[in-house]
Amino acid sequence: METVVRILVSNDDGVFSPGIKALAQVASEFGQVRVVAPDVEQSAMSHAITVRRPLHYTKTNIDGLEAYRVDGTPADCVALGAFHWDEVDLVLSGINLGYNIGHNIWHSGTVAAAKQAAFLRIPAIAFSAPYSDEPVDYEVMRPYLRQVIETFVAEPDMLLLNVNVPARPRGIVWTRQSVRHYEGYVVAGEDPLGRMHYWFAEEPTEEVEEGTDRWAVEQGLVSLTPIRLDLTDDVLLQRARAETAETPVG
Ligand code: MN
Repeated sequence: METVVRILVSNDDGVFSPGIKALAQVASEFGQVRVVAPDVEQSAMSHAITVRRPLHYTKTNIDGLEAYRVDGTPADCVALGAFHWDEVDLVLSGINLGYNIGHNIWHSGTVAAAKQAAFLRIPAIAFSAPYSDEPVDYEVMRPYLRQVIETFVAEPDMLLLNVNVPARPRGIVWTRQSVRHYEGYVVAGEDPLGRMHYWFAEEPTEEVEEGTDRWAVEQGLVSLTPIRLDLTDDVLLQRARAETAETPVG
């Protein structure tokens, strides 16, 4: 753990989310912590970046930890944080209020903040926990957060890790992303003035494949999914190369 010195912490729920405070407090056991996070909620913003206007910092603090709120997206926050802090060793994102499993890994601003770090070759972990209207008990998650950070740091080839933590964890397991069933759907409704409106909603799938992120959290296990940046479908690529003549160059 001696190698971890500077830890940048971000999220997509906003700098004043209780989840980021819990994560920053655990991070401070491992090194020097700086929080750079969106000033307002940016959930489901995925990897959006701000390119048509400038970004601004406002200094704040979270229980004595150095913190900045930024008028941008989660990916913006990590890009700025890494720009202003030399040699960030680790980026932690979360703890998101709501799991990021299955297709939600694609929608997630929490994962995108960690992914932005991975783009910059900085190792990063995204943390998510179940959505709850009640205050979340982060104390019970704490030993698992510590163990996940220790496990990740001990895997030097691992650049990006997506972690989902059940409310009452009873263990840790390596998983793969569950993408067989998409949960997103559109609900049409009518407002009081008779205009149609639409909600993008999601309905949890009944079917759960063993070994996936969804399966793990339903078992009460902390789910660890290593994520890669290369989206190439290698099987299809090889088949296409074998079956289709490529146009000669020059
Ligand atoms: Mn969120």
